Amino acid sequence: MSTNPDFVKEPAGGQVPVVAHADVLVIGGGPAGTSAAIAAARNGAKVTLVERYPYLGGLASGGMVLVLDDMTNGSEITVKGICQEFIDRMASKDLAVYPPEADRRVDMAMWQKWSRWGVHDFHSHQKPQPITYAVAFDPDGWKRVSCDLIAENKIDLRMHSWFSRAIVEDGRITGVVCESKAGRQAMMGRIVIDATGDLDVAASAGAPFTHGSFILTTVFRLGGVDTDAAERFQYGEPEAFQKLDREAKRLIGGAWEMWWLKTPLPGVVWCNCPHMSGYDGIKVEDLTRAEFEGRKRIYALVDWLRKTPLPGFEKCHVVDVAPQTGVRQTRLLDGEYVVTKEDVAERVHFADSVARGRDYYTPYRALLPRNVDQMLVAGRHYSATSAAQKTSREIPPCMAMGEAAGIAATMALGANATVRAVDVNALQRKIRAAGGDPGDRPAPNAKILQAAE
Ligand SMILES: Cc1cc2nc3c(=O)[nH]c(=O)nc-3n(C[C@H](O)[C@H](O)[C@H](O)COP(=O)(O)OP(=O)(O)OC[C@H]3O[C@@H](n4cnc5c(N)ncnc54)[C@H](O)[C@@H]3O)c2cc1C
Repeated sequence: MSTNPDFVKEPAGGQVPVVAHADVLVIGGGPAGTSAAIAAARNGAKVTLVERYPYLGGLASGGMVLVLDDMTNGSEITVKGICQEFIDRMASKDLAVYPPEADRRVDMAMWQKWSRWGVHDFHSHQKPQPITYAVAFDPDGWKRVSCDLIAENKIDLRMHSWFSRAIVEDGRITGVVCESKAGRQAMMGRIVIDATGDLDVAASAGAPFTHGSFILTTVFRLGGVDTDAAERFQYGEPEAFQKLDREAKRLIGGAWEMWWLKTPLPGVVWCNCPHMSGYDGIKVEDLTRAEFEGRKRIYALVDWLRKTPLPGFEKCHVVDVAPQTGVRQTRLLDGEYVVTKEDVAERVHFADSVARGRDYYTPYRALLPRNVDQMLVAGRHYSATSAAQKTSREIPPCMAMGEAAGIAATMALGANATVRAVDVNALQRKIRAAGGDPGDRPAPNAKILQAAE
């Protein structure tokens, strides 16, 4: 690094201006990064949040992934804190919908009332699946709440800034360089949190990682849908419905059981499809090809809907295709602890748990890179095997990880210590005091495994 604090030297020569000096520098304004920035700011840090796009929310807004799930184990809500705050704020604007407690049960009437909102327990083998605590929301509602929280917490938000490379000195990350319309710019941070979802920063800083992959999806929304008519047909004429529904799924070529779900906007549904395999979510060529393939399949379906008497969809039209490609998994941190599929499936409890998902626990060590100091990661690229991440990467647990990372960063700064040396019991207490659930109190069904502690 340059000795001049206003410029940073580039490895190939030249220098770039430093445009921000932060206590906590967060890269990536998705669910995890926004939560990390808010938590760090609330705990007294000067925070800079960097985002490549002109909105916050990542896959939750730009990816139009419009259901928050994985936040209850059936008997208790396991993800609270900033995630719940987002829900409450969106609900107060009629931009979030969830079943009241009395409706959360296994019952055909509740299934018919709620399942098209996507608020059923996808992991259950019961039929019908239980209606659970999950939340359908509006993507612009998410962006709006994010902006409000950023402003209220006086976070220095820098949008339109693409992370380019990490600045590392003697094994410690000290900042990043981003590309922007105004040229390359550096931002310095005493602690850096990678919340890019693809581990861009930690990988550039030299942290070990593995390369996972999973299906890609070009999410889209349809408007002009009469959802009441569609549901009447589904339950009133099940055989005719199934025949047409099967054909719709064949045309889209890859969908979960329900290819459309309701949103808080009347007549607008979101379609968590088409699913496409064989693409790498960080390869430019693959991401470009996926846009073309996704759109081709979407319009094959929509053209068919226009010609086919599928009740409710006679006048449907494409509202939008998500501006952000639905990438679920790319690089995964190979951190101080790597969470396994068994850990998630068997609900293994860790003494250093700092975040919960549905019924599983995330240890602080899974947010800590090896080899790089003063860096934390939070979000879908956390330290897990590919198989484990596939069932533990939903929006709420990513937010819980972000909240934990943000608070941990401020504790390290306060103690003038490394993030590795954070007192995890004190961190758990701080998360609780802020309204979160770090998972320090295992549920009765947790597996207490000494070896995993
Ligand atoms: C199609 C699909 C369906 C899903 N369904 C559900 C569901 O129903 N419910 C659920 O809860 N979860 C679902 N998920 C999972 C969930 O959306 C993600 O795991 C979650 O959003 C991850 O949050 P994150 O903050 O870690 O990452 P992301 O949401 O990916 O956010 C990362 C942020 O970092 C920014 N960024 C990335 N790289 C850079 C860079 N180089 N420079 C600057 N900024 C950068 C991005 O723009 C983005 O804002 C789904 C995912 C997909 C793809």
